[in-house]
Formats: sequence, structure tokens, C-alpha cells
Amino acid sequence: VWSTVPQGPPDPILGVTEAFKADTNPRKINLGVGAYRDENGKPYILPSVQEAENRLHGQVDKEYLPITGLPSFTSAAAKLAYGADCAPLKEGSIAVTQSISGTGALRIGGAFLSRFYPTSKVVYLPSPSWGNHTPIFRDSALEVKTYRYFDKSTVGLDWAGMIQDIKEMPTGAIVLLHACAHNPTGVDPTKEQWEELSGLIKEKGLFPFFDMAYQGFASGDIAGDAFAPRHFVSQGHQIALCQSFAKNMGLYGERVGLFSLVTASPEEKARVESQLKILVRPMYSNPPVHGARLAGTILNDPALYAQWEGEVKGMASRIISMREALYTLLTNTYHTPGNWSHITSQIGMFSFTGLTQAQTEVLASKRSVYMTKDGRISMAGLNGGNVEYFAKSVDGAVKG
Ligand code: PMP
Repeated sequence: VWSTVPQGPPDPILGVTEAFKADTNPRKINLGVGAYRDENGKPYILPSVQEAENRLHGQVDKEYLPITGLPSFTSAAAKLAYGADCAPLKEGSIAVTQSISGTGALRIGGAFLSRFYPTSKVVYLPSPSWGNHTPIFRDSALEVKTYRYFDKSTVGLDWAGMIQDIKEMPTGAIVLLHACAHNPTGVDPTKEQWEELSGLIKEKGLFPFFDMAYQGFASGDIAGDAFAPRHFVSQGHQIALCQSFAKNMGLYGERVGLFSLVTASPEEKARVESQLKILVRPMYSNPPVHGARLAGTILNDPALYAQWEGEVKGMASRIISMREALYTLLTNTYHTPGNWSHITSQIGMFSFTGLTQAQTEVLASKRSVYMTKDGRISMAGLNGGNVEYFAKSVDGAVKG
């Protein structure tokens, strides 16, 4: 029956992990996958999450959730993103549904816009963007185009190119924006640039669709990292927003997320939510319960929330300290050719090193150092025990 099904290519990011696993070098380093690792290179279970687990243990049943998820979680998650003083949130105009982490939020959003957004079926992604954005939106029956974002020559934002491309988008098109800690580049607009973007996007009548997979991870400041979507909403934009609790709570495999849409009124919100239910029901019926309970327990308990904020800050700070260590090693210890200041100016979990595909291949084959072939590294994979070996390996690859 399946003789005509062609062999598909392996996933470019998960493929890196497979190569890493097969390597027997004890010094091997995996900087491919975007998952936080502690100072010993191990997965990190946040103590606040452990505490929530302890509180829930044996206390809850395993009944189905409503189609749009656990209300105590979804309302707290929306508050986390939009801020307690957000006007549409306070008046009850934000439609929400729990999602299968950030990916599921994007997929629900893509499907909803494809079905109901009246003006356009075209979504513009930054170039480059997270590799899964294109297939997610294509599978949602939207047409995917790109706008300029990253400037290879400065290893920074291509601000002029971005503005020009946005100006040339057709009225009503959908623009995907990474709310903070852009993946894969680690390059974000400044606050002033976000303000300008908000004005331009409004002037052009474009639809802002935010992907916020790293709230808290960029700066360690939960509210600060949500500046862009909050600013857009304060300026009257009716945004779409995707949230993930994979990174900031370390709930990767629990698949906890939220999709929300700012609407014009509580009445409009009710209609939108009714259609979100109609979309979700035939896809997966209702979302998984455990992770939402964990996140909800943390978000709704002031003491546990404060503890969690500290833990997010701790993860963000460790990453920032690794950026500084790597920069210092390359620049001052090894005098590696090139300017490495982007290592410390980039934000969030990833750094776009500027290493070429050929150099990444040498690093894998000669040094057992694994990263995606675009030269992106997960900073969270570095620690006091391996950063020196990594810097020395990069130095060797650059010097040839
Ligand atoms: N958006 C971006 C930009 C991401 O980097 C990721 C995770 N790699 C996601 C969404 C979704 O991740 P998850 O489905 O695990 O929440």
C-alpha cells in the first residue's frame, strides 16, 4: 500500500542529537538541541516544579480537561504574558485555549487564521526563523513568505532590510514576530525598535502574530521579556500570541502552552472561543492535564511564583555568564580571528556563532562538538567544565 511513500529527510535539529549519541568521545558536547542544562550538563528540574509535583502527588484525578484546557492555568498564563493591568484582559476580551506547548499554539493559531482571518492567507516569517515555523504554517494552509531579519555581515539585526520588507508587505498580511530571544539568531529588536515596528505594522494594517517561547529566558525578567506583545496591545493591536512553558519551567515533555487572541469585546471573545473549541475538538479533543496543573500551581501561588521567578533568573544568568566566558576565551585567551562581540550581545538560549557549515563539520568530526549546521549553538549546553574545550575547538576550526 505504501510503496509510493518517499523516504523523508531527518529532522535537522534532532539529527544532531543522534550523531552526538553515537559518538564515544568522553569530551563530546551537544549544543544542537534547545534544552537548558545545569552547570553539570544535566537536565534541570526546577525546584518550584518539584514542589508543585509534591503538592499534586496523589491529590488529583486524571479526568479529561475541558476542550480549551484548565481554566486556573489558562487565566494565569494569559496574565503572565499580557500583564495584570492589560486593558483587554481586564475587560475579558482575550480568547484563550491551552495548547500542546508552543508548537501546538502555533498550529492552532495557524488553523484559526487560515479559517477565519478575512484579509490574507499569507504569513511572513523572519529570515531565518525557527525551522518548524514554515511546516507549521504550511500545514495550516497558509502561504509562507519571509522578511529580512538577520545581517550576516554584522551578525546582528538587518533593521533597514526588515523595515523595507515590512513596508512592502500587502495590507492585511500576517507577520510572525519572535517576542524575545529570537531563535535561531539570538538577535532581538530594541525597545525603541519594537515601538517603531508597532507603529509601522499598524499603519500598514498588518496582523501581528507573536511567538513567545522564551519568556523570562532572554533577560531573566518575566515582564521585561514580554515588552513587545504588551506594547503592541497597549497600542491597540489585536495580536495573536503563542506561549510555551517548555523552557521557562523546564516542562519540555509535558507540553504546556497557551494560544490567545485579543478581540474587540467580551462578546467577540465568546464567539472566537467557540470556534477555537470547534478547531481543537477534532484535532486532539482536549489537552493533557498534568503539566497544566504544575504550571497552574506555580503561577497561582504567590510564594511558589516568586521562587520560580528566581529560578528563571538563575537559568538566564547562567547562560549570560557562559556567553561572557566564551567571549573572553575566544578574544583574550586564544585570540581567535574575527570579532566575537555578538556572543555577548545576542540574547536568550541561542547564539548564531557565524561559524560556517564546513567549520561545524570539522568541529563534529574532529572535536566531537555538535551544533546545527547553520552555526547555531545552544548556550545552555555550555558549562564551567566544557566551555574551555569548546572555545579551543572553535579556535582550532577557525584557524584551520
Ligand atoms: N517557537 C520557537 C521560536 C521555539 O524555539 C520553540 C522551541 N524550540 C517553539 C516555538 C516550540 O517549542 P515547544 O513546542 O516545545 O513549546
